[in-house]
Amino acid sequence: MLSKRAQALKPSPTMAMANKARELGDQGHDVVSLTVGEPDWPTFKVAAQAAVKAIEEGFTKYTAAAGIPELRNLIAKRTSEEVGVNYTGAQVVVGAGAKFVIYALLQMLVEEGDEVLIPSPYWVSYPTMAELAGAQAKIIECGLNENFKLSPELLEKSITAKTKVLILCSPSNPTGLMYTKQELSQLAKVIEKHPKLIVISDDIYDKLVFQSQKKNLIEDPDHIFRAPHLLASAPALKDQMILVNGASKTFSMTGWRVGWALGPEALMKVTADFMSQSTSNVTSISQKAVLAALQGGVPELKVAVEKLEFKRDRMLKKFQTLKHFQVIPPDGAFYFWVKVDSIFGKKVPGHAVISNSKDLAAVLLEKYFVATVPGIEFGTEGYLRLSIAASDKQLDQAYERFLKFESELA
Ligand code: PMP
Ligand code: GLU
Repeated sequence: MLSKRAQALKPSPTMAMANKARELGDQGHDVVSLTVGEPDWPTFKVAAQAAVKAIEEGFTKYTAAAGIPELRNLIAKRTSEEVGVNYTGAQVVVGAGAKFVIYALLQMLVEEGDEVLIPSPYWVSYPTMAELAGAQAKIIECGLNENFKLSPELLEKSITAKTKVLILCSPSNPTGLMYTKQELSQLAKVIEKHPKLIVISDDIYDKLVFQSQKKNLIEDPDHIFRAPHLLASAPALKDQMILVNGASKTFSMTGWRVGWALGPEALMKVTADFMSQSTSNVTSISQKAVLAALQGGVPELKVAVEKLEFKRDRMLKKFQTLKHFQVIPPDGAFYFWVKVDSIFGKKVPGHAVISNSKDLAAVLLEKYFVATVPGIEFGTEGYLRLSIAASDKQLDQAYERFLKFESELA
């Protein structure tokens, strides 16, 4: 019954691990889930209140497929101010989460025979999305020696006549590492030499950045800090670039499903047409909520980033006492990218030898009830990804369980 495409499809591993943790929890186990990257603090009040108002005022019907004009215009204005390159509302499309926006963009951009360049470690969904659009996902290995970032040399070497798209994400999921202005300028020089190459810049974590990187951050007039942007380094790349962002992470709105893209008008138009034939519009209520968050979310964002940074610093200190869980200190986002390969070849009582990150994640979940995501799901073996956007209590519990795991490891 199933198409070949359906037969080859695997679920998002981050969401699959989160579900597994939930199921064990439902069976009565005390599970600490550090799987999915979502804030444990509530949706910003300013957004929730605007949603209630939208319902009360009856703003509950279909909207334009590309999003309501007020929202598209505000996204254009804000992004223009941030990157220093001018966008209009017509160059914006709003979709059902940044995930679906990237999916839709790839459907509109690539086909059989095209290559999509994806630096590894990568966010789990990029390769599958490229393949669902018929293209080949070409993974560029960027390991510890490259500080998990794409270098200009590696990029240059990876571009072929078939290369159509490069996906960049900074700060990165899963590493939390951020490209500096200088690194972006060097990448821009390579991209400029290949005018047919299209860059999707996934900026979903751009405002969740830490003061440990202060010298490399951009400070806005309202004292919100952001990651440097490739387009700001090289405005001439405007026609080659698509900027993706969303409300999920910044405003703690993962369930509201609002993301957006900015790029060449013709591409935005077909992407909106694609949405009009698939999801129609993003929930009208969510659009009003995001509009309010963009207008008045700054005070709550400051608190959220401080909270996240506190968790990061506190847990970095604690993890220093662990022997086999070496954290690569993140510059932003929600994650600890943890080097765990010194565990491979060892075992804990009642379980087989741990040979890779999948085995490790399975043992940590089944015996110690801590749910994590194996590094291999992000294309890089030898690591685990932990989400630190959990409560302090959960993070402490996880740490205690890792200590216990280490004490039983032989
Ligand atoms: N890009 C990256 C790198 C992410 O981590 C996520 C989170 N799932 C997304 C895009 C999509 O976010 P959303 O669909 O919730 O807007
Ligand atoms: N971006 C989050 C993560 O990577 C959400 C889950 C998902 O969409 O994959 O955990």
